[in-house]
Amino acid sequence: MVPAGHAGALVEIGRRMDGRGWVPGSAGNLSARIDDSAIAITRSGVHKGRLTEADIMAVDYDGQALSAAQKPSAETLLHCQLYRLFPPVGAVLHGHSVAATVLSMQGPITFSNYEILKAFGFATHELDVTLPVYENDQDIARLAGFIEPLLKREPPIGYVIAGHGVYAWGSSVVHAYWRLEALEFLLSCELERRRIK
Ligand SMILES: [Zn+2]
Repeated sequence: MVPAGHAGALVEIGRRMDGRGWVPGSAGNLSARIDDSAIAITRSGVHKGRLTEADIMAVDYDGQALSAAQKPSAETLLHCQLYRLFPPVGAVLHGHSVAATVLSMQGPITFSNYEILKAFGFATHELDVTLPVYENDQDIARLAGFIEPLLKREPPIGYVIAGHGVYAWGSSVVHAYWRLEALEFLLSCELERRRIK
């Protein structure tokens, strides 16, 4: 059901995210668009650093498993939402890094004048970019409903759920990882900057 290329790419990125300390315990979820009717996503409750291709399952755009025996990640609807709203999105990565978790509990996060902002397509470093922080909610359908109009208004470089973790996306699994890496770098810099202030 899930093409081997999609599954293999997500398994590899899970290892890389684990190597960076971004997916402690069974935290995080990883997905890639298969086609107009299916999305490949990590199943619920598995360690993202020790994924096998059997841990990647297919869901439809409503987050329903295409194989009855498998249970997708609890946050599947947040992935589906990004694919539905933004056709260029080919992959979505979510992790629980220390920097994203801590900074998001301190209020809004704005990145100013960082060279690496150019990784998101900006032509210059001379700007302020706000990373939206949304309140955490265990009711994922309700959280998705809250986020949707905000995402539609102005697609951000990613977003953070307060005290929880970061969502990043890109045109492919590799591109999503680049953007996640840039976002995590910004979050780490911001955490250090506030520490030495
Ligand atoms: Zn999470």
